[in-house]
Amino acid sequence: MARFIFFTGGVVSSLGKGLASAALGSVLQTRGFKVRLRKLDPYINVDPGTMSPYQHGEVYVTDDGAETDLDLGHYERFTAVSSRQSDNVTTGRIYSDVIARERRGDYLGATIQVIPHITDAIKEFALGDVTDEDFILCEVGGTIGDIESLPFIEAIRQLGNELGRGGAMFIHVTLLPYIPAAGELKTKPTQHSVKELQGAGIQPDVLLCRADREIPEAERRKIALFCNVRRDAVIPALDVDSIYRVPITYHEEGLDKQVLDHFGLEAPSPDLSRWEKVVERVTKPEGEVTIAIVGKYTGLQDAYKSLGEALTHGGIANNVKVNLDWIDSEVFEREDAVDYLEKVNGILVPGGFGERGAEGKISAVKFARERNVPYFGICFGMQMAVVETARHLAGIAGAGSTEFGPCDDELVGLMTEWERDGVVEKRSVDTDMGGTMRLGAFEAHLAPESKISEVYGTDVISERHRHRYEVNPTFEAALTDAGMVISGKSPDGVLPEVVEIPDHPWFIGVQFHPELKSRPFDPHPLFSSFIAAAVDKARLV
Ligand code: GLN
Repeated sequence: MARFIFFTGGVVSSLGKGLASAALGSVLQTRGFKVRLRKLDPYINVDPGTMSPYQHGEVYVTDDGAETDLDLGHYERFTAVSSRQSDNVTTGRIYSDVIARERRGDYLGATIQVIPHITDAIKEFALGDVTDEDFILCEVGGTIGDIESLPFIEAIRQLGNELGRGGAMFIHVTLLPYIPAAGELKTKPTQHSVKELQGAGIQPDVLLCRADREIPEAERRKIALFCNVRRDAVIPALDVDSIYRVPITYHEEGLDKQVLDHFGLEAPSPDLSRWEKVVERVTKPEGEVTIAIVGKYTGLQDAYKSLGEALTHGGIANNVKVNLDWIDSEVFEREDAVDYLEKVNGILVPGGFGERGAEGKISAVKFARERNVPYFGICFGMQMAVVETARHLAGIAGAGSTEFGPCDDELVGLMTEWERDGVVEKRSVDTDMGGTMRLGAFEAHLAPESKISEVYGTDVISERHRHRYEVNPTFEAALTDAGMVISGKSPDGVLPEVVEIPDHPWFIGVQFHPELKSRPFDPHPLFSSFIAAAVDKARLV
């Protein structure tokens, strides 16, 4: 039977609860347990798919096509367990399900209330879709004290009772701020946040205390005393040089032992050599390369969380540090790209939406193509690469994307239907914006002898998608004549999935998001290959 570990956060947001549960999940895995991670998000959007990346960071897409919180990316990167639709829910989804049931008459005339109807729906979700997992690590988004998260806190409180101590455990992630004038780490905010949690009926079993320096013994004892936890259950979670060191430090501080003791379990010691190797590579690189990421949301790196991580993984594969140079593409609409791109070893145009900055991205593609700088286009970055080739090499001056309104030559256009596993999925210009993209894992067939099949070492791949528009296959001949090959297609041979320019050191555009499937201990081949090309480029300079 699965045991549940609930993570809550206190004092401030951004304490890295997602990372904490991912890292603990990984340690438990290496002790022989099967884990699954999920997140309950208190905001009212039905999913983060329609939220601006500036507000919420990246939208992480699962194989089965859910648009989810970026913490699910941490979960996958640390545990390699593929997340599912059933691993992320929001207040919006819970309420819309409950309201739909009410409209169907499922409640037989009852008055629908937060307790028990909303909390029941949350519990159903938290407990649902569990098979043979030993542990479900379940994070509640937000910070204790938020009005939005109250029903979730109440639901996990009820679960604590229903599952009993042998079935549920509560870990509270909190902050000990350092006050320079006093020269001390302060415990009061933690005490207040635990009081708030206790007021909601939850006694934490473990406090995971974020701090920027060692927590003195006296402070640990004080926290234990005032927060009603054992001294051993006050676990320091200090800042580290690489996030991939976190599983190692948690084990050293005894977090996994607390979990096993709580549930009365014994298990072999963990084998953390995988993480030791990753940390060794990340902290002691033998060289460095600089990659320009030319995008729109460059002011907030969380908007491209998985991308930044995947590039780091590419560095791990090549034993180099990857410096990321985030450039807002709009600058190329005012200034010469040369000034910004001359010194970089690779250029990447990531996923994106809308017309703003698109011409700047096209300029970046042109620079990479003409100067033989390795170019990696992801989703929108592939679409803009196709437009660039069409305009400047195939002589199709009016080439554009219908995403920006009508254009003379629709190199990129809205596709209204496609096939997945033999079933046709449809959409139209009038469909809702939420949840209507081509989403989730789709297979692609790669052309033999192509660069892309060499990179993957196979001809059939499956990668995750999130887009409304597609490269228009009717222009294939024109693009081929101009030197750009469509080297990957949907299994029915209709939709272009990969383009490449064979006569260039490394120029690949992909319609999917490979960054979502890269792992630190198993870097994605496209990122390994792209960084290898950047290393070559750096050597040539
Ligand atoms: N805006 C483009 C589309 O919808 C690309 C999306 C993306 O890059 N994820 O097709």
